Amino acid sequence: MQFMNQSSDRIASNLFRVKQSIVDAARACTRSSDAIRLIAVSKGHSKDAIAAAIVAGHNDFGESTTQESLPKISLLGNPSIDWHFVGHLQTNKAKFIPGNFSWLHSLDSLDLAHKLFRHAHAEEKSASINILIEVNTARKEQKHGVAPEMLFDFIDRLLKADLPALPLRGLMTIGPHDAPKKDIRGCFAELRRLRDECRQRFGLEHFTELSMGMSGDFVEAIKEGATMVRVGTAIFGERDYSK
Ligand SMILES: *Cc1c(COP(=O)(O)O)cnc(C)c1O
Repeated sequence: MQFMNQSSDRIASNLFRVKQSIVDAARACTRSSDAIRLIAVSKGHSKDAIAAAIVAGHNDFGESTTQESLPKISLLGNPSIDWHFVGHLQTNKAKFIPGNFSWLHSLDSLDLAHKLFRHAHAEEKSASINILIEVNTARKEQKHGVAPEMLFDFIDRLLKADLPALPLRGLMTIGPHDAPKKDIRGCFAELRRLRDECRQRFGLEHFTELSMGMSGDFVEAIKEGATMVRVGTAIFGERDYSK
Protein backbone atom coordinates (compact mmCIF):
# COMPACT_ATOMS: atom_id res chain seq x y z
CA MET A 1 0.00 0.00 0.00
CA GLN A 2 1.18 3.50 -0.83
CA PHE A 3 2.28 5.59 2.08
CA MET A 4 -0.41 8.24 2.25
CA ASN A 5 0.10 11.98 2.40
CA GLN A 6 -2.33 11.77 5.24
CA SER A 7 0.09 9.55 7.17
CA SER A 8 2.94 11.99 6.54
CA ASP A 9 0.82 14.87 7.80
CA ARG A 10 -0.11 12.93 10.90
CA ILE A 11 3.52 12.13 11.69
CA ALA A 12 4.53 15.77 11.18
CA SER A 13 1.79 17.00 13.49
CA ASN A 14 2.51 14.32 16.13
CA LEU A 15 6.17 15.30 16.04
CA PHE A 16 5.25 18.93 16.49
CA ARG A 17 2.99 18.05 19.42
CA VAL A 18 5.62 15.91 21.17
CA LYS A 19 8.23 18.66 20.73
CA GLN A 20 5.80 21.15 22.22
CA SER A 21 5.21 18.85 25.22
CA ILE A 22 8.98 18.65 25.70
CA VAL A 23 9.24 22.45 25.65
CA ASP A 24 6.36 22.73 28.16
CA ALA A 25 7.79 20.06 30.48
CA ALA A 26 11.24 21.68 30.37
CA ARG A 27 9.81 25.11 31.08
CA ALA A 28 7.80 23.76 34.03
CA CYS A 29 11.05 22.74 35.73
CA THR A 30 13.11 25.69 34.46
CA ARG A 31 15.25 23.60 32.17
CA SER A 32 16.17 24.50 28.62
CA SER A 33 14.52 22.24 26.07
CA ASP A 34 17.71 22.55 23.97
CA ALA A 35 19.28 20.16 26.47
CA ILE A 36 16.73 17.44 25.65
CA ARG A 37 17.18 15.35 22.54
CA LEU A 38 14.13 13.65 21.11
CA ILE A 39 14.85 10.19 19.71
CA ALA A 40 12.01 9.18 17.39
CA VAL A 41 11.76 5.41 17.89
CA SER A 42 10.77 4.08 14.48
CA LYS A 43 10.78 0.33 15.17
CA GLY A 44 7.67 -1.28 13.74
CA HIS A 45 7.30 1.50 11.17
CA SER A 46 8.33 1.72 7.54
CA LYS A 47 11.13 3.73 5.98
CA ASP A 48 8.41 5.97 4.52
CA ALA A 49 7.28 6.86 8.03
CA ILE A 50 10.88 7.77 8.87
CA ALA A 51 11.17 9.78 5.65
CA ALA A 52 8.08 11.75 6.66
CA ALA A 53 9.71 12.65 9.98
CA ILE A 54 12.91 13.65 8.18
CA VAL A 55 10.93 15.97 5.90
CA ALA A 56 9.38 17.43 9.06
CA GLY A 57 12.93 18.30 10.17
CA HIS A 58 13.78 15.37 12.43
CA ASN A 59 17.22 13.80 12.54
CA ASP A 60 17.50 11.34 15.46
CA PHE A 61 15.93 7.91 15.10
CA GLY A 62 15.88 4.89 17.37
CA GLU A 63 15.61 1.23 16.40
CA SER A 64 15.72 -1.88 18.52
CA THR A 65 16.69 -4.79 16.30
CA THR A 66 19.42 -5.09 13.67
CA GLN A 67 17.21 -7.29 11.53
CA GLU A 68 14.60 -4.59 11.11
CA SER A 69 16.80 -1.52 11.13
CA LEU A 70 19.64 -2.34 8.74
CA PRO A 71 17.47 -2.51 5.60
CA LYS A 72 15.83 0.79 6.56
CA ILE A 73 19.17 2.48 7.22
CA SER A 74 20.52 1.39 3.88
CA LEU A 75 17.33 2.24 1.95
CA LEU A 76 17.21 5.72 3.44
CA GLY A 77 20.94 6.13 2.85
CA ASN A 78 21.02 9.47 4.59
CA PRO A 79 24.38 10.13 6.24
CA SER A 80 23.09 13.07 8.24
CA ILE A 81 20.72 10.89 10.30
CA ASP A 82 21.85 9.94 13.79
CA TRP A 83 20.76 6.34 14.41
CA HIS A 84 20.37 5.17 18.01
CA PHE A 85 20.25 1.49 18.89
CA VAL A 86 17.87 1.37 21.87
CA GLY A 87 16.98 -2.33 22.20
CA HIS A 88 18.80 -5.24 23.77
CA LEU A 89 21.77 -6.17 21.60
CA GLN A 90 22.95 -9.77 21.35
CA THR A 91 26.72 -10.08 21.19
CA ASN A 92 26.55 -11.88 17.84
CA LYS A 93 24.92 -8.74 16.37
CA ALA A 94 27.61 -6.36 17.61
CA LYS A 95 29.28 -6.32 14.23
CA PHE A 96 26.34 -4.46 12.69
CA ILE A 97 26.54 -1.46 15.01
CA PRO A 98 29.77 0.37 14.05
CA GLY A 99 29.27 2.42 10.91
CA ASN A 100 25.47 2.22 11.16
CA PHE A 101 24.64 3.53 14.63
CA SER A 102 26.25 6.50 16.36
CA TRP A 103 24.69 5.71 19.75
CA LEU A 104 24.11 2.48 21.66
CA HIS A 105 21.70 2.96 24.58
CA SER A 106 21.86 -0.55 25.98
CA LEU A 107 25.37 -1.68 26.90
CA ASP A 108 25.08 -4.19 29.73
CA SER A 109 27.94 -6.65 29.41
CA LEU A 110 31.71 -6.58 29.10
CA ASP A 111 31.57 -9.25 26.46
CA LEU A 112 29.40 -6.98 24.31
CA ALA A 113 31.77 -4.05 24.88
CA HIS A 114 34.75 -6.09 23.71
CA LYS A 115 32.94 -7.27 20.60
CA LEU A 116 31.78 -3.74 19.74
CA PHE A 117 35.30 -2.46 20.19
CA ARG A 118 36.78 -5.12 17.95
CA HIS A 119 34.27 -4.39 15.17
CA ALA A 120 34.59 -0.63 15.56
CA HIS A 121 38.28 -1.06 14.84
CA ALA A 122 37.71 -3.37 11.93
CA GLU A 123 35.53 -0.75 10.26
CA GLU A 124 37.60 1.26 7.83
CA LYS A 125 36.28 4.46 9.27
CA SER A 126 37.35 3.28 12.70
CA ALA A 127 33.81 4.20 13.73
CA SER A 128 33.27 5.34 17.26
CA ILE A 129 29.98 4.66 19.07
CA ASN A 130 28.67 6.76 21.91
CA ILE A 131 27.82 4.38 24.73
CA LEU A 132 25.06 4.53 27.30
CA ILE A 133 24.92 1.83 29.96
CA GLU A 134 21.46 0.38 30.53
CA VAL A 135 20.55 0.16 34.19
CA ASN A 136 17.73 -2.00 35.51
CA THR A 137 16.31 0.58 37.92
CA ALA A 138 12.96 -1.23 38.02
CA ARG A 139 14.80 -4.27 39.41
CA LYS A 140 12.73 -6.65 37.34
CA GLU A 141 14.39 -10.00 36.81
CA GLN A 142 13.22 -10.38 33.24
CA LYS A 143 14.62 -6.98 32.30
CA HIS A 144 17.97 -6.32 30.69
CA GLY A 145 20.49 -3.91 32.06
CA VAL A 146 23.07 -3.74 34.80
CA ALA A 147 21.75 -3.97 38.38
CA PRO A 148 22.15 -0.58 40.09
CA GLU A 149 24.31 -2.22 42.79
CA MET A 150 26.71 -3.55 40.15
CA LEU A 151 27.12 -0.34 38.17
CA PHE A 152 30.33 1.03 39.73
CA ASP A 153 32.02 -2.34 39.41
CA PHE A 154 30.87 -2.61 35.79
CA ILE A 155 32.24 0.81 34.88
CA ASP A 156 35.45 0.09 36.71
CA ARG A 157 35.97 -3.00 34.60
CA LEU A 158 35.01 -1.20 31.39
CA LEU A 159 37.55 1.53 32.07
CA LYS A 160 40.25 -1.02 32.85
CA ALA A 161 39.50 -2.75 29.55
CA ASP A 162 40.46 0.55 27.86
CA LEU A 163 38.19 0.70 24.81
CA PRO A 164 38.76 4.19 23.35
CA ALA A 165 36.40 3.75 20.38
CA LEU A 166 33.54 3.44 22.88
CA PRO A 167 33.20 6.75 24.71
CA LEU A 168 31.04 6.33 27.82
CA ARG A 169 28.41 9.04 27.62
CA GLY A 170 25.84 8.21 30.30
CA LEU A 171 23.03 5.95 31.44
CA MET A 172 19.76 4.63 30.09
CA THR A 173 16.76 3.04 31.78
CA ILE A 174 13.30 1.80 30.90
CA GLY A 175 10.70 2.92 33.43
CA PRO A 176 8.55 0.21 35.01
CA HIS A 177 5.51 -0.64 32.94
CA ASP A 178 2.08 0.08 34.44
CA ALA A 179 3.55 1.38 37.69
CA PRO A 180 2.25 4.43 39.58
CA LYS A 181 3.79 7.70 38.35
CA LYS A 182 5.67 8.20 41.60
CA ASP A 183 7.42 4.82 41.23
CA ILE A 184 8.37 5.64 37.65
CA ARG A 185 9.76 8.99 38.77
CA GLY A 186 11.65 7.21 41.54
CA CYS A 187 13.44 5.07 38.95
CA PHE A 188 14.31 8.13 36.86
CA ALA A 189 15.56 9.98 39.95
CA GLU A 190 17.75 7.01 40.81
CA LEU A 191 19.26 6.99 37.33
CA ARG A 192 20.11 10.65 37.69
CA ARG A 193 21.82 10.08 41.05
CA LEU A 194 23.76 7.18 39.60
CA ARG A 195 24.93 9.28 36.66
CA ASP A 196 26.10 12.06 38.96
CA GLU A 197 27.95 9.60 41.19
CA CYS A 198 29.61 7.78 38.29
CA ARG A 199 30.70 11.02 36.71
CA GLN A 200 32.34 12.17 39.90
CA ARG A 201 33.75 8.86 41.09
CA PHE A 202 35.41 8.03 37.77
CA GLY A 203 36.14 11.62 36.69
CA LEU A 204 34.23 11.17 33.43
CA GLU A 205 33.76 14.65 32.01
CA HIS A 206 31.54 13.55 29.12
CA PHE A 207 29.34 11.19 31.13
CA THR A 208 26.41 13.58 30.92
CA GLU A 209 23.51 11.78 29.25
CA LEU A 210 20.35 10.38 30.79
CA SER A 211 18.26 8.42 28.27
CA MET A 212 14.90 7.90 29.94
CA GLY A 213 11.23 8.40 29.16
CA MET A 214 9.02 6.93 26.43
CA SER A 215 5.59 7.91 25.04
CA GLY A 216 3.84 7.28 28.36
CA ASP A 217 6.35 8.84 30.75
CA PHE A 218 8.66 11.30 29.00
CA VAL A 219 7.24 14.28 30.91
CA GLU A 220 8.20 12.64 34.25
CA ALA A 221 11.63 11.81 32.81
CA ILE A 222 12.24 15.43 31.81
CA LYS A 223 11.34 16.55 35.31
CA GLU A 224 14.02 14.18 36.61
CA GLY A 225 16.64 15.48 34.21
CA ALA A 226 16.39 13.35 31.04
CA THR A 227 18.71 14.57 28.27
CA MET A 228 17.32 12.06 25.77
CA VAL A 229 13.75 10.83 25.52
CA ARG A 230 12.88 7.84 23.34
CA VAL A 231 9.41 8.30 21.87
CA GLY A 232 7.79 5.93 19.37
CA THR A 233 4.02 5.54 19.56
CA ALA A 234 3.25 9.20 20.25
CA ILE A 235 5.00 10.11 16.97
CA PHE A 236 4.38 7.21 14.60
CA GLY A 237 1.22 5.64 16.04
CA GLU A 238 0.74 2.01 17.00
CA ARG A 239 3.39 -0.38 15.71
CA ASP A 240 2.34 -2.72 12.95
CA TYR A 241 4.56 -5.73 12.27
CA SER A 242 2.14 -7.34 9.83
CA LYS A 243 3.12 -5.12 6.87
C1 LIG B 1 10.03 0.81 21.71
C2 LIG B 1 10.91 1.51 22.63
C3 LIG B 1 10.69 2.86 22.95
C4 LIG B 1 9.50 3.67 22.45
O1 LIG B 1 8.34 3.26 23.11
P1 LIG B 1 6.94 4.02 22.91
O2 LIG B 1 6.15 3.60 24.10
O3 LIG B 1 6.38 3.54 21.62
O4 LIG B 1 7.22 5.47 22.92
C5 LIG B 1 11.61 3.47 23.79
N1 LIG B 1 12.67 2.81 24.28
C6 LIG B 1 12.91 1.53 23.99
C7 LIG B 1 14.10 0.86 24.57
C8 LIG B 1 12.04 0.83 23.17
O5 LIG B 1 12.29 -0.45 22.90
